[in-house]
Amino acid sequence: MSHMEDIAALQARIRACRACEEAGLLARAAPIAHGPPAARVLVIGQAPGGRSHVRRRHFAGPAGTQLDRWFTAAGFPPGYFRERAYLSSLTRCFPGPAPRGKGDRRPSPAEVRLCAPFLEAELRLLQPRLVVLVGKMAIERFLGPCRLEEVVGTLVERDGRLYLPLPHSSGVSRWLNDPAHQALVERAIMLLAECRARLGLVEP
Ligand code: SF4
Repeated sequence: MSHMEDIAALQARIRACRACEEAGLLARAAPIAHGPPAARVLVIGQAPGGRSHVRRRHFAGPAGTQLDRWFTAAGFPPGYFRERAYLSSLTRCFPGPAPRGKGDRRPSPAEVRLCAPFLEAELRLLQPRLVVLVGKMAIERFLGPCRLEEVVGTLVERDGRLYLPLPHSSGVSRWLNDPAHQALVERAIMLLAECRARLGLVEP
């Protein structure tokens, strides 16, 4: 099979998955999977939100709008984030609203475990040079337990791959309201720009 066929087959497998529903972890599984096979940047979030669930696209809501802005601020051409990066998340089904407070429910460790082989397959097939980790759950999955303040504004190189941590960008978190945290995000955008130049990410 060609690379394109491998990616298409993987996306079809993800869309057909009902593992969390069958395990009683989700009332209804409705996985989202899409992305360009030639992507060199993989963006990983926590789980699809309500708007993504409806539109069947990752980062379809305010979190995606903010990420799009950060990519543009880092010198990527308009549309790069949504059209040329491969958007993904730890789990592929909308977990529903949080039982208490604002925002969405965090996927449980069991859901993350069941969904992990899909993320591993994406990493294996895409071999992305840059992995952008959005939010604490995605960051900790790759970099281990940490505080956002310690990792946002840093770039981690591991096994020939670069990992760029970013805070959750949906606006639900108040973390971004702190000017000191904003400065960390600005540093992260600068590092994203450095990755773009260093890896030649906007070359055709
Ligand atoms: S979250 Fe992942 S493992 Fe669970 S049903 Fe959806 S696609 Fe399958």
